[in-house]
Amino acid sequence: MSENEKDLTIESYLEFLRNKKLMGTKCKDCGAMYVPVRKLCIKCNSTNMEWIEMSGKGEIAAFTTITVGTPFFVEKGYGRNKPYCFSVITLQEGPMVSGQLVGVDESKPDTINVGMPVKATFLETELKGETRVDLGFEPI
Ligand SMILES: [Zn+2]
Repeated sequence: MSENEKDLTIESYLEFLRNKKLMGTKCKDCGAMYVPVRKLCIKCNSTNMEWIEMSGKGEIAAFTTITVGTPFFVEKGYGRNKPYCFSVITLQEGPMVSGQLVGVDESKPDTINVGMPVKATFLETELKGETRVDLGFEPI
């Protein structure tokens, strides 16, 4: 099945992620791009959307260091003594997407800067016998 035959659903988006592809959708009418997937263009109300692969490159728009994590991050060993960093990234293609920031010193947030160039990385976690893949970012 080719990429563009896949349904424009979050399930397909997550399946692409498991295959280490960051896919968004592009409006064929006005060119707006969305990550994750959207079926409806919020700029021009078109439903004429197609999948498009993102470069994964972008820059940090915002970030926060988290010491009280969600159950998923607690299970991964993060917490008060091992904070993790969550970021919002502006992709080169324009869409903004969030994900864990890795490859940084979470204990020294002043070494992390808005505007820092990053690239996508695919974070694998073994959870209850299954491999979960989450979108993350790391400095280039
Ligand atoms: Zn549009």
